[in-house]
Amino acid sequence: MTTSNQRPRARGIHHVTAIASDPRANFDFYSGLLGLRLVKRTVNFDDPGTYHLYYGDQEGRPGTILTFFPWPGARRGSRGTGQATVVSLSVPEGTLGSWRRRFAAHGVTSDDPVERFGEEVLPFADPDGLRLELVAHPGAAALDPWADGSVGEAEAVRGVHSVTLSVSRAEPSADLLTDDLGYRPAVEAGPRSRFRVGGEGAGAGAGAVIDLVEDPDTPQGRIAAGTVHHVAFRAIDDAEQAVWRERLREAGRQPTPVQDRRYFQSIYFREPGGVLYEIATDPPGFTRDESVAGLGAALRLPPWLEPHRERIEAVLPPLETSVGATGGEGEVAP
Ligand code: ZN
Repeated sequence: MTTSNQRPRARGIHHVTAIASDPRANFDFYSGLLGLRLVKRTVNFDDPGTYHLYYGDQEGRPGTILTFFPWPGARRGSRGTGQATVVSLSVPEGTLGSWRRRFAAHGVTSDDPVERFGEEVLPFADPDGLRLELVAHPGAAALDPWADGSVGEAEAVRGVHSVTLSVSRAEPSADLLTDDLGYRPAVEAGPRSRFRVGGEGAGAGAGAVIDLVEDPDTPQGRIAAGTVHHVAFRAIDDAEQAVWRERLREAGRQPTPVQDRRYFQSIYFREPGGVLYEIATDPPGFTRDESVAGLGAALRLPPWLEPHRERIEAVLPPLETSVGATGGEGEVAP
């Protein structure tokens, strides 16, 4: 019993984790402006005086999750190779004009939309300089949004579209995606290659795309505020994760032991271009400690931190949004 020659099915992105500075600005931007749902309000288990904020759809489904470690006063990182340099979110076709007006009304600058692989892309950045995009594509309409957020249902974000990885040499990173993670090459243009899992078009779920950009002249990025810390891929359960882990171990990728992240189980490894990858299980999910209706409403702590709740709550700033909670064009903050 040595080889696990059966490769588990690749299921796409589970979540993307980035570093932020001010948690209030982060919450205002992702919940207020982008209309994502705060699906878990907890702390950094290694630094419980700071938040770990999870945003997603109604139920916090894998493929819709962005997570942030906001460290007040954190220094800005730098974009470069060995990083996921852009996080792209899905929106329905025909909504980018309305999104641009919304950004302008809230003082957020966005670049002119560009076309990429037949999809319309609106680039912008979060308050820490993290590069984001809204990607308007036909498949988005088939995905459920969170309908009770600050953005109207017709325009609302439908989860993660893709991440763009920047590496100095594409081939080893591409080989890992295809040979070890089960992605297939979809299309390429210049230094950018697109990889996919699952069905095409309307059948494609959230988080199905990875773009790899070869950028030999750009130095390695520095991970700090405004940069992505890691990209997590889905495993359907612990057993599937164990098969992934064994395959990665055999491929010399040195995955970590399984770590309990409370809402999922995780292993981590570094891909050849330097980007930190994680494989996270779908269960138990964010309803482990609160109902769907109550997701994100209250601070949730793991049992070992409960005895310190009072002290932790005293140092965490309250989170509130200045963006109105109705329709697509909320009130402009003073
Ligand atoms: Zn993670």
